[in-house]
Amino acid sequence: MMSVNRSRRAHDFEMLTLHSVTAGYGETTVLRDVNFTVGDGEVVALLGPNGAGKTTLLRTATGFVKPRSGRVEFGGADLTGHRPHAFVTRGACHLPEGRGIFPSLTVRENLRIQARSRDMNEVVAEAAELFPVLGSRLRQTAGSLSGGEQQMLALSRAYLTRPKLVLIDEASLGLAPLAVDRIYDALRQLVERGLSLVIVEQYVQKALDLASTVYILNRGEVI
Ligand code: ATP
Repeated sequence: MMSVNRSRRAHDFEMLTLHSVTAGYGETTVLRDVNFTVGDGEVVALLGPNGAGKTTLLRTATGFVKPRSGRVEFGGADLTGHRPHAFVTRGACHLPEGRGIFPSLTVRENLRIQARSRDMNEVVAEAAELFPVLGSRLRQTAGSLSGGEQQMLALSRAYLTRPKLVLIDEASLGLAPLAVDRIYDALRQLVERGLSLVIVEQYVQKALDLASTVYILNRGEVI
C-alpha cells in the first residue's frame, strides 16, 4: 500500500510563503485563505482535482495574479502585489502549463531568450549536455519538436537561469511514459543541485516519489 505519511523536514529558511492568501479573477474567488510554504531545498507536490486552483496558486506565487488579501513572501522579502519581474530577479522560475516556449522560434532562439545575457556557446553546450536531443535540433522550430522534446526545452530554462525556486505546472501533461521518466530524471538532477521545487502533477506517484511535502488543494482551499 502506498504511504504518503512523511514527516516534514525542518528548513533553515523559507523560500516562498503564502500567508492567508485569497485571490481570483474579477468577481471569481479561486484561492481562499491559502497558507503554503516551500523551504530552502524543499520539494513540494501540489495536487488536487481539475479546477481546484493549482495553476492560480502558482501564478499568485510568482506575481501573475495579485492576491486580494494576504501576503506573498519570496526569498525573505514581502513581494505582495509585485509584478512577476520582481520574483524572477530574486530567483523564481515559473514553467507554465503549455510549456512557455516560443513555438515559431528555433530551439537556439528559445535558448537565447531563456539564458538572457549569458554566452551563447556556453548555453548551447550546457543545454546539449543536459538534453542531447536539443543539441542536435538547434535550427528546428520549437513548435515542431515532439511534446517530450518541447518539455525538455522548457525545462532547460530551470538550469540556464540558475534559479532558487522552480515552479512547474503539469510537467508531464500529454507525454509518453518514457518522456515522463526523462523529465523526472532532469527534475531529480535539479533537486540534487539544492534548489526548491514546486510540482503540479497529474501522475501523482511521480510527484510523490520526489516530494517531501504534499499539499492538496480542493475548491481553492488547502485540505
Ligand atoms: P487544472 O488541473 O484543470 O489545470 P487547476 O487546479 O490548475 O486546474 P486553475 O487553472 O487554477 O485550476 O483554475 C481554478 C478556477 O479558476 C477554475 O474554475 C477556472 O475556470 C478559473 N480560472 C482560471 N483562470 C481564469 C481566468 N483567467 N479568468 C477567470 N477564471 C479563471
